[in-house]
Amino acid sequence: MNLIIVTSIHSDLFYHPCVFYNICMFRYLIVIFILLLPGACLGLALQTIQSTPAYTPAYSPPVATVIPARPTPTIYFAPTPTQQAATPAPTAGITPASPSESFTVLYHPDDVLYQGDQVSIEVVSPPNLNLKDSSLTVRVDPPDGLNLDPVNFGGWGIQGRNEATLLWAWDTRNLDPGTHTLAFSVQPQGIEWTDQVSLLPSSDLPPDQADAQWATTQTQCCTVYYITNTASERDLSTLTSLIDEQAQLSIDKMGASFTQPITITILPRLLGHGGFTSSEISVSYLDRNYAANSWTMVVHHEMLHVIDGYLGGDFRPTIFVEGLAVYMAGGHYKPEPLIPRAAALLEGYLDWYLPLKALADDFYASQHEIGYLEGASLIEYMVNIYGWDAFSAFYRDIHIEEGESQSTAIDAALKAHFSTTFDQLEQVFLSALSEEPNTTAWVEDVRLTVTFFDTMRRYQQILDPSAYFRTAWLLDNQAMRERGIVADYLRHPDTPNNLALETLFITASQQISARQFTDASQTLLVISLILDAFEQGNPEPFLVSALAADYLSISANLQQQGYEVQTIRIDENIATADVTSPSGLDLINLTLQRRDGQWLLSP
Ligand SMILES: [Zn+2]
Repeated sequence: MNLIIVTSIHSDLFYHPCVFYNICMFRYLIVIFILLLPGACLGLALQTIQSTPAYTPAYSPPVATVIPARPTPTIYFAPTPTQQAATPAPTAGITPASPSESFTVLYHPDDVLYQGDQVSIEVVSPPNLNLKDSSLTVRVDPPDGLNLDPVNFGGWGIQGRNEATLLWAWDTRNLDPGTHTLAFSVQPQGIEWTDQVSLLPSSDLPPDQADAQWATTQTQCCTVYYITNTASERDLSTLTSLIDEQAQLSIDKMGASFTQPITITILPRLLGHGGFTSSEISVSYLDRNYAANSWTMVVHHEMLHVIDGYLGGDFRPTIFVEGLAVYMAGGHYKPEPLIPRAAALLEGYLDWYLPLKALADDFYASQHEIGYLEGASLIEYMVNIYGWDAFSAFYRDIHIEEGESQSTAIDAALKAHFSTTFDQLEQVFLSALSEEPNTTAWVEDVRLTVTFFDTMRRYQQILDPSAYFRTAWLLDNQAMRERGIVADYLRHPDTPNNLALETLFITASQQISARQFTDASQTLLVISLILDAFEQGNPEPFLVSALAADYLSISANLQQQGYEVQTIRIDENIATADVTSPSGLDLINLTLQRRDGQWLLSP
């Protein structure tokens, strides 16, 4: 099969049997600074992420090359390659530019490690360091412990982040709980350092996680895998009905005689924007889905990718692959008109339009929602002009030479099929958009959709980095099932900070859906201010606003009482919250009252 493309509502990911990032908030999210090249500029390993919606006409995505700031200590290593001494960083986040380079070490599963975990370790290369042919070795509890199998540095995820990934390499089943030492060695550079890692006793594992395991069910269209003791198990009959409906709908729309079995894995945590497709589909389903998109749309989008892949084509450019799924689904995260929303990107409205050639050549690094919207509305325009059959014949007949850009391949196919160039197509497309009469009505929706997801990805990069789509910790699901591993998908950052921010996102999404745009803007601004505060090392990031402080207080209060908050709604001194408890999967609605500045559960 040609593409390993994993697409998602939103992202096509290279489905490696392993993926990226993780940050263990309570653990060592260790950023190790090693001075390697005297005189070479480090740049900021933890660079400032652009503060939200300060959009400029030529949209510059705030999802640049960011290594997340940690709320945990940053450890600096002295300039010599074999150094072990660590000096606490003056602040937790941004580090001074200096002639140094940095490695970032990330552990999986997220959150905390328990005795018995199959631990994965990512060692992310410093920027601008050539580690081609370099390898990483990790020794556990030196000098007597075992070496983990060495791995080479290589690209990871659609971002192609250069890192060494030890997937499920550290088997802790026969280790004692407590602190263990890991000694890292990068060769042939001779860079070495050590790290301390804590394993909690396996008896501390929450019972619902300890009992969780893979399960499967067969529907008309699909083999569905899920993890027990999760919301997907609770709602399984609804989900499988939706899956069958969306599969049939997708097949009907694509006109395909598609009868192949489809494998769907339901993930209990959010990864990316909630959906990926490679040889199988992975979709997130959880109560606190802070991407707040329609599960039906996500499933439909990913189904369309599967059928699109089945229909084939020599080379399917990414802008059309993603554009087709959005076009066919009738929207990206929700049902929505495409051309009027794309017209809102033009000068005179948002002025966020991205030129098509550049977009086609660097699709996933471009602003996500704008790229998908432009791809989908371009297809709608072409189908309107040429008809579906002609568009489909063109799309399935694109070819690319080695080293050729995607836009060049598109250009050649356009000439062959429609006697036009990519530039000419763009000009008539822009002209059609500019004549769209219903644009103004969609400006705020587009603006807030873009702002929402930019802010959400920024949150992921800072506080839930395993979820960030370009480096998501999306694994080989089949291998996980064979090994009986569920923790990588079950565990995720779960501090009151995460709970408060994720519930704020859900509130912002509900406000956008209700077209309460002023309220939504305010909520997203509050989230941005909190994220700014995290990056600045502010010890009390939720004191940036009363709303932020309320969400944190409620989240922390409910967590202390054994509940996991899923949504929060505040009306002055009364709050309602949907929660789950360890004793059951059902959602419970609780009411809290503010008394003397404290949020207390109503009797
Ligand atoms: Zn997609």
